[in-house]
Amino acid sequence: MLTEEGLIREVNVKGVSRFEAKIEAHHHLICKSCGKITDFNSKELIDYALLLIQNQKDFKINTAETNFYGFCIKCKNKELSTP
Ligand SMILES: [Zn+2]
Ligand SMILES: [Zn+2]
Repeated sequence: MLTEEGLIREVNVKGVSRFEAKIEAHHHLICKSCGKITDFNSKELIDYALLLIQNQKDFKINTAETNFYGFCIKCKNKELSTP
């Protein structure tokens, strides 16, 4: 499996899998309407998450990824145009 070798990573959101070639941690913007996943890179967010969790004693944390949920521009516009 490529995923096990770390060459490709699997992003699984609500049972929908998507494979990405990126290896570094990054975040996702996920549309609640159509399920579109957009990458969002923020080293600052990772650093901040790790800072918040640094006192966790029972778990060795390496990295953090965050999912943001909302509506993509397409679905947002659809929402607005619907009476
Ligand atoms: Zn959408
Ligand atoms: Zn991604």
